[in-house]
Amino acid sequence: MYKIPLPELKQKIAESGKISADELDTKIKTKINELSGLISEEGAAHIIANELGVQLTQSTDEKLKIKEIYAGMKSVTTVGKVVRKFEAREFAKGESTGKVCSLVLGDETSTIRVVFWNEQVDLLETVNENDVLLVKNAYVRENRGGKEVHLGNNGEIEINPEGVVIENVREAVTTFTRKPIEELKGGEEGTEIVGTVVQVFDPRFFEVCPECNKRARQSGEVYNCEAHGEVKPALSYVMNLVLDDGTGNIRGIFWKNQTNNLLGKEEVDMGVYKEDPAKFEEVKTSLFGEQFKLMGRVKMNDMFNRLEFNVQMVEKADAQEEIAKLEKVE
Ligand SMILES: [Zn+2]
Repeated sequence: MYKIPLPELKQKIAESGKISADELDTKIKTKINELSGLISEEGAAHIIANELGVQLTQSTDEKLKIKEIYAGMKSVTTVGKVVRKFEAREFAKGESTGKVCSLVLGDETSTIRVVFWNEQVDLLETVNENDVLLVKNAYVRENRGGKEVHLGNNGEIEINPEGVVIENVREAVTTFTRKPIEELKGGEEGTEIVGTVVQVFDPRFFEVCPECNKRARQSGEVYNCEAHGEVKPALSYVMNLVLDDGTGNIRGIFWKNQTNNLLGKEEVDMGVYKEDPAKFEEVKTSLFGEQFKLMGRVKMNDMFNRLEFNVQMVEKADAQEEIAKLEKVE
């Protein structure tokens, strides 16, 4: 089952003309009842679509618009413009090494990350930003709430295929709206806050599979990834701090990349703090009272009943810029 968000799912079913939106809502409720609540609304909607013979996605040899790509799909073909190409990096894999490289592909509907592994990385050598890239036979995975396209074993790419023009690329959420912390409710995307660090927590460390970034479980001396078996794990971490902007405060969650950006450190530096947490005290001290601009999404953490700010980008706040903004408001 593809992970089509419920509102889109409902829209697709209603667009078939086979059922009205209201009827669909009723039918979903009935279906959930029938199944004694052992199914989600999404699940019920999928069953109803199937009963009605509504095709939720196009057949797979057709090119999908990026917006129509959902986690769980296999043999996906899509085409887009390379908005960004990241540096390839190597990682240790048992005795040998592996390679990974990713890029962001965009069309007029959305953008998505495409990940290439090992020898596939060589295919990208001649690919540059702004090239048009056709990706065939790829599969789609969910990674930290986002979607990622991976080239499968039979995957293929075509660089600048003839006759394909991508006019405008719709950037995912690249604009962030500044909000005072007291106005945050949870569920906001593309939010920017600026505030002062008032509390810093020790980072938490964990081992991940260097290939898929999922948690690697330790058993005895070795680490295992569910998908990749025994691996030499990479170090990952998450760090929290509380930011206060005068209207309120919120806990910022920094995953590995954003922790690195926040602290100006890399995995090797962080490894030192893992071995010797006392050394991290100095870092904490240096953060207190510093001002940062955080961009990301706001989430309600139900377990702790608190709002959290999931950081997608972090910058040192520019004091001049902030003063200018304040003056403009007054
Ligand atoms: Zn793995």
